[in-house]
Amino acid sequence: MRILLVEDDVALADGIQMALKPEGYTVDWVQDGRSALHALTGESFDLAILDLGLPRMDGLEVLRNLRAAANPVPVLVLTARDSTNDRITGLDTGADDYLVKPFDVAELKARLRALLRRSFNRPQPALEYRGIRLDPASHEITFAGNPVNLPRKEFLLLHELIAQPGRVMTRDKLQQALYGWNEDVDSNALEVHIHHLRKKFFPELIRTVRGVGYLVDKAR
Ligand code: CA
Repeated sequence: MRILLVEDDVALADGIQMALKPEGYTVDWVQDGRSALHALTGESFDLAILDLGLPRMDGLEVLRNLRAAANPVPVLVLTARDSTNDRITGLDTGADDYLVKPFDVAELKARLRALLRRSFNRPQPALEYRGIRLDPASHEITFAGNPVNLPRKEFLLLHELIAQPGRVMTRDKLQQALYGWNEDVDSNALEVHIHHLRKKFFPELIRTVRGVGYLVDKAR
């Protein structure tokens, strides 16, 4: 899952990134509203964490622009402690949830998981797909009831694919989900990870859509 973090407080942004990366999220970070709007408009993110007090365009303005353009990306707003008005306006402007600073990072993680579940229309915390069970909270995976350990990238990739069966995931989207902006991408890495996943589960788990990307079929 790929998250855009919009926060001008560098220390807080560092803390959030450090907390989220081990959870299997790819986090890209921008520090002002204009960059946020640009990133969210031009690229695909599964979720945005949006501070409201931002340079160059405040968070509410970013949100207003997004929703005016019918961009449905789930947004969790971060607000300062004393601004009830901001929270209300944020929700009315199209935020999906909010957290008041300072917040507990465990609560942030739980809210992100809940938002992502909602955005994929999935009431159950764990994903189940043809004998595979993936729990985004505990990071446990089982296949036919047996525990499977996956390296981080393979976990991310599997999560990305089985979250939306029947939907073709382009190479670009998958690569962004795995690497974000700051990591160098080895152009063969995606194929290698896919190959490993097919071996660890079953070959027909992931279909190659030639020239486009990959797909897991809708479970029958
Ligand atoms: Ca701020």
